[in-house]
Amino acid sequence: MTSRQVDVLVVGSGPAGLATAARLARTGVRVEVLEREQSPGGVPRHCAHRGFGSLPHALTGPAHARLLAESAERAGAHVRTGVTALDWAGPRALTTVGPRGAETLVARAVVLATGARERPRAARLVPGTRPAGVYTTGELQQAVHLYGQRIGTRAVIVGAEDVSHAAADTVRAAGAEVVALVTELPRAPAAPVRTVTARLRFRTPVLTGTTVTELLGRGRLSGVRVRHRDGRTATLRCDTVVFTGDFVPDHELARRGALTLDPGTRGPAVDGALRTSRPGVFAAGSVLHAVESAATAAGEGAHVATAVRDWLTDGTGPDRTDPTDQTDQTDRRDPADPADRYWPAGVPLVADPPLLRIVPNRVAPADRLPYLLRTAVPLTRPVLHITQDGRPLHRERFPLTTAVPHRPLTLTAHWTHRVDPGGGPVHVTVT
Ligand SMILES: Cc1cc2nc3c(=O)[nH]c(=O)nc-3n(C[C@H](O)[C@H](O)[C@H](O)COP(=O)(O)OP(=O)(O)OC[C@H]3O[C@@H](n4cnc5c(N)ncnc54)[C@H](O)[C@@H]3O)c2cc1C
Repeated sequence: MTSRQVDVLVVGSGPAGLATAARLARTGVRVEVLEREQSPGGVPRHCAHRGFGSLPHALTGPAHARLLAESAERAGAHVRTGVTALDWAGPRALTTVGPRGAETLVARAVVLATGARERPRAARLVPGTRPAGVYTTGELQQAVHLYGQRIGTRAVIVGAEDVSHAAADTVRAAGAEVVALVTELPRAPAAPVRTVTARLRFRTPVLTGTTVTELLGRGRLSGVRVRHRDGRTATLRCDTVVFTGDFVPDHELARRGALTLDPGTRGPAVDGALRTSRPGVFAAGSVLHAVESAATAAGEGAHVATAVRDWLTDGTGPDRTDPTDQTDQTDRRDPADPADRYWPAGVPLVADPPLLRIVPNRVAPADRLPYLLRTAVPLTRPVLHITQDGRPLHRERFPLTTAVPHRPLTLTAHWTHRVDPGGGPVHVTVT
């Protein structure tokens, strides 16, 4: 197997990876981006709808993906497609496989921007037969928008989030009918305009408080059985079902590298500079929080680029490990080495129920990146309280009257200078 040195290795060419690469390459850093798909851009590549970037100039997903890829390449980043990072060969070395065969890449810094994946039907434990016609949103969008495949004539969408409506748009674009969007939640979680548009413009029912209990049909799907909150059951006739919106971080590399994972997000735990638990290894985008907007992922990419540059200029030379040493999977932290100090910085930051998760999930006094939270239940006029060892650090009112699941809550970082780096975990609670 061949071995090469690079300055920075970015795994994943979605908005987070490409934004990181563009920002670093512009400052003269040698950066290489690895993408396992045949073209760069991540999820937006197969999202045909217009919703990427800011209004009124929002772009379609593929246009957005092209723009980001061109910007990274123009800046000097080397974007390699069809190349998968398989495993670690040292603290900052990865084994890869691609058109050139297997290769070990040894980097001074690694950025994990591997995104998120949807949990398939099997993982959601829906019983029934195993017929054709069952998709996740990503599979549906790739079939329709990338490969022009036929998907069936009548589709049930499982989920009613924004991403579920994007799946419904894809079904309609493929010339099929959307039978219904079905959600277990008592209220439709998408932006109200999307639910109203589905019901009034497209005449598509959005069934809340409804669970898909069984898939029916042999060979091809013939229907789904549903149960309403009051116990009534019904069969929706359809030949296609799309499971949407149940995302988990694509944390395979983080897990294989034994990086600390955050229990709330299931992605790598990071501090305010987006440093993981391994010196020189960073993370950004949906691998940290599945899934927020592409602008959020790209913003984190730009943010992490600054931290990577600090790491490169803090006196860390080329990797000190032998890239062929397969046994070295652990940190080689030397408290006397300035580059290894405070890695990752701060103390754990914990979102208490009914809050689901917070990113970043470590906090240090110098942190300036705002925090993203999600709640498990709708909250009216929520106030966030930040405490450490029982000591109040900050109190913040959410600007909107209601916070809902499936939409992010933002917490400023103005209070972080009050954190005691030698103290216990910082807790975020809500009233
Ligand atoms: C259906 C849908 C609709 C959406 N609509 C919108 C919208 O309208 N507006 C908006 O702002 N956001 C939207 N989003 C969210 C947006 O797509 C994400 O925020 C964004 O793509 C996250 O970027 P990322 O770089 O973190 O990850 P991704 O875009 O997921 O990119 C990760 C990349 O890493 C690659 N990769 C993973 N592992 C490896 C490996 N081991 N080796 C090599 N490559 C690897 C993957 O192939 C992938 O290309 C939507 C998301 C979905 C799923």
